[in-house]
Order: sequence, then structure tokens, then C-alpha cells
Amino acid sequence: MSKKDYYEILGVGKDATGPDVKKAYRKLAMKYHPDRNPDDADAEAKFKEASEAYEVLSDAQKKEAYDRYGHAGVDPNMGGGGFHSAAGGASFSDIFGDVFGDIFGGAGAAGGRGGARSNRGSDLRYTLELDLEEAVKGTSVEIRVPTLVNCETCDGGGAKKGTSPVTCTTCNGVGQIRMQQGFFSVQQTCPACRGQGKIIKEPCPDCRGQGRKEKRKTLSVKIPPGVDTGDRIRLAGEGEAGIAGGPAGDLYVQVAVRDHAIFRREGKDLYTEVPISFADAALGGELEVPTLDGRVKLKIPQETQTGKLFRLREKGVTPVRGGKPGDLLCRVIIETPVNLSKEQKDLLKQFQTGLEKEGYRQSPKRSGWFDGVKSFFDDML
Ligand SMILES: [Zn+2]
Ligand SMILES: [Zn+2]
Repeated sequence: MSKKDYYEILGVGKDATGPDVKKAYRKLAMKYHPDRNPDDADAEAKFKEASEAYEVLSDAQKKEAYDRYGHAGVDPNMGGGGFHSAAGGASFSDIFGDVFGDIFGGAGAAGGRGGARSNRGSDLRYTLELDLEEAVKGTSVEIRVPTLVNCETCDGGGAKKGTSPVTCTTCNGVGQIRMQQGFFSVQQTCPACRGQGKIIKEPCPDCRGQGRKEKRKTLSVKIPPGVDTGDRIRLAGEGEAGIAGGPAGDLYVQVAVRDHAIFRREGKDLYTEVPISFADAALGGELEVPTLDGRVKLKIPQETQTGKLFRLREKGVTPVRGGKPGDLLCRVIIETPVNLSKEQKDLLKQFQTGLEKEGYRQSPKRSGWFDGVKSFFDDML
């Protein structure tokens, strides 16, 4: 609720007469009208404020109460309910129409903004699943999309051959009508012609007056290298045909990359897990790892622990928007051998005995872990 002085808001003296008040309000409302200040909250607030002041000061009874008791003197619902409150008096829209009926126009008249609604066809979205290799290297795919195309019989107009649509009399062909709603005059789609501006008296039998028919069309789409899940490729004009011969919408091909058996992609980097033997990890060695361009050699230093990441520079993905390729990150996983022969088992047991004799000094994690466990229990005692 506005606590500002109503006379101050309108910029008039206490002795201002009805026409003075009206003139002052009109000036302010012209300046701050929402139609003239779209999306301007400050202007809207000033407009409300001025309207509130005008409602009180233009009403002799309310003016007297306000003069005597201030804000408390006027209807407590005034302003409290914000915009829609019109308790005990003329509604704001009445005031509005009274003062502005001749400027902004009332219901039914087309306003200065808006105009004919776009007849553009809808955009379509198509989800295209790709393998990682296809997404990284680019490909060309054929997709079949159900869409609406222009009806050939009526050439998209929707009217039976030999007839033509007539201009809608409700909206005078604009497709929109203006309705008064509280303060605002709002644009609405004309119900008579559903926004078309034209009415088809005799519809085309092939498309039942729609001007468009459903059809599946096959499109060849070039997928540039480097695309990733979430990327969209826009095919201008390949969406639904427009209404009544309007321009077609666009088709958006939305890329979804399938999971890969070996590689996981994160942005332009690729991750993979490389199983290595315990012996290779301990002694070091060279192994072959796969990349999307074939195998490459990866050197493993001795004493490599499981989980260690090795980076192969620029063996990742070249981003679709350009730039340097990402890296391939290989995480080595030390694999426990299976199906051991008795001899192999005996050898391992000998080896294990050797480790125990050394007090696991050769097992950095394990000795550290035992130390941790020991101090954990010591702390509890
Ligand atoms: Zn038709
Ligand atoms: Zn209409």
C-alpha cells in the first residue's frame, strides 16, 4: 500500500478541482502506462500509485475522508489488495476507460502493439542417437521425421479449390483482439478465426482446411565431428510447414551419444581403464592401449599402483567448436590373476612369505593402512 501523499503523487494542490486531478493523472498515466513501458516494474509501480491517488482524489467522498484522516480514512481495502482491489468504488478499469478510452482503445479494437500473429510452423525436435565414434569423427545420417507439409491441393491455403478464405469480421483480419482485464488491455487470439485472421468457408477436402498434411520425410543430416550429447543441429525450414502458407519452422536434431564399451567421454577428454598384470605394475613395462585412432604404446614405470592415471596428450576428442583435441586418460587397474596352477600358487606363497618377513615394508599402502588402524584403536583406549 502506498504511503505517499496522494496530492504529492499527482502533483496537485489540496484545492485542486476534479478536472485538475484528472488532467494530472492523465499526464502521469500516459507516461507510465504499462503498454508504453513493457517490463518496466518501476513504471508499473508509478502507474499503480498514480491510479490509486486518482481513485481517491477524483471521488469527492473519498477525497474528504482522505483529507481528514489520511490513508486510514480511505477504504482499507484500497491498495491493500493491490491492483485488483476496487472495493466500494469505481474499478480501476472504469477509471482507465473513463480517462483513456479515447487513446488506447477498449476491448475489441486492435492496439498499437502486436498485430497479426505469426503463421510460422512449429519447430520440431528429433533425438539422434550416435555411437561415440560417429560423434567424434562426424558422420552423415538419414533420419525420417514425421512432419506437416503444405497441402498441394490447396497450396497450403486450406480453402477448397476455386474458393478463397474470407477476412474474419471479428478481428478484421488481425487475428488478435484486445480485451480489458483490470488495468491492462491484453491481447487475445481471436476465437472466431483462431488467430488466422481469415475464415475458410469451404475447406479443402484433402487437408480438411488445415492447409497442411502429415507426412514422413527423409532428411540427410551431416553431423560434424566432435559433437556431444546435448548438442543441437538446426536445420532451418525443415520443421512443420507454416499455417496458411506461412514460413516453415526449424528442425532441431538433438544429439545423444550412446555409452561406449571402453571409453567414457568427459567434454573433450576420454577416459579408459587399462587392466595390467601385477608383474607389469611392479616391474614396469610397455603396453598397448586403444585410442579412437587405433592402438598406441603406453609406458608403465615400475612400482605403478592400481588406479594411477596416465595421460596421452591429444588422443581425446577435437571439440566441434574447434580448438585443440582433448586427452586420453588411462587408468591402470591391477588385475588379480585367476586359474592359477599349483606351481604358480606355490611361487606366490613363497613370495608372500618373503613380504611378511620384511614386515610389509614393500607394500606402502598396506603398511600405512596398518599404522592407521593401530592408531585408531590406540585412540579408542
Ligand atoms: Zn488442402
Ligand atoms: Zn478473427
